[in-house]
Amino acid sequence: MDGIPTKSAGTIRTVVQWCFLLWVAGIGIRFGMFVNSVESGATSPLISRPPGVEGFLPIGALTSLKHWLVSGEIHSVHPAALVIFLTILLMSLLAKKSFCSWLCPVGTLSEVVYKLGRKVFGHNFRIWFWPDILLRGIKYILLLLFLVFILIGMSGEKVSKFLDAPYWAVSDVKMLHFFTRMSGTTMVVLAVLAFLSLFYKMFWCRYLCPYGALLGLLSAMSPFKIRRNAVDCTGCQICSAACPSGLAVHSSTAVSSPECTGCLTCVAHCPERNVLAMQPVFWKRPLPVWVFPAVVVFIFMVGIGAGMVSGHWQSSLSYSDYQRLIPLVQSLSH
Ligand code: SF4
Ligand code: SF4
Repeated sequence: MDGIPTKSAGTIRTVVQWCFLLWVAGIGIRFGMFVNSVESGATSPLISRPPGVEGFLPIGALTSLKHWLVSGEIHSVHPAALVIFLTILLMSLLAKKSFCSWLCPVGTLSEVVYKLGRKVFGHNFRIWFWPDILLRGIKYILLLLFLVFILIGMSGEKVSKFLDAPYWAVSDVKMLHFFTRMSGTTMVVLAVLAFLSLFYKMFWCRYLCPYGALLGLLSAMSPFKIRRNAVDCTGCQICSAACPSGLAVHSSTAVSSPECTGCLTCVAHCPERNVLAMQPVFWKRPLPVWVFPAVVVFIFMVGIGAGMVSGHWQSSLSYSDYQRLIPLVQSLSH
């Protein structure tokens, strides 16, 4: 594993995470300016609508997936929602739950908060074993509810009706308002989550995020896994202590838990050379540490690129559609 040392895994991930966060923030700001231009009565767009904003519409993306499965067509109102969703599913199938630890802005911010908590309190806290297991189950229950309600409970006709309705058309604007015109309840919920995240590593991701639960289940099929060379391992347990998901890396030959996000923190912390590595099952020799991040970014770019090239990226909504619909946003409910 000559070349870039494994210790740099953390630095590489920080760079990827913050570049992605800045990109997402740029999309959000640009979309805010677009909506602002409509709301201010501009007769033509002062700025074009950025499509990636659909990344914030995972429930609509799941509905779009059902539509695609039953009709064979990608719905044209927010096609980027499905493209982003499928890309992230593919990432999990091939490269663990890497979206969570390499790209997701919520994951990046959650890390900032727990590291801040560690600075303030000297360490992070751990919930006892059984309560921890029970709490981890919450995200799977939420996932099950979404899957049952949308993939099984909604007929093809109901799905089309939902995707053709004005509510879905302006769901991106509603999401923007969720952040820019936050209700008191939302503020309290976010403050409580942030507070808990100060004490417990990745509180939202670990216990509550149904998206992460889905990606974790798919990641079981990923050929990439953290593999430990038990012969050279000294059993120091530094890897397990560092793992943000609280996994017992030191006692696993290969980490196959759905909670493993492929963050490479264990690899970066292992003091021994060539003991821990993220490797595909079919690859027996040590891989340079940059390979996994490169695979993650490559899959994401290929997925999004495929959506763009195939014409399933830009919304079919025109500026005049937004002019007509945005004044109705407050009154539109599903
Ligand atoms: S096992 Fe390693 S790669 Fe997986 S979550 Fe823990 S620290 Fe990250
Ligand atoms: S940090 Fe490395 S040497 Fe220590 S227990 Fe984990 S894998 Fe073994």
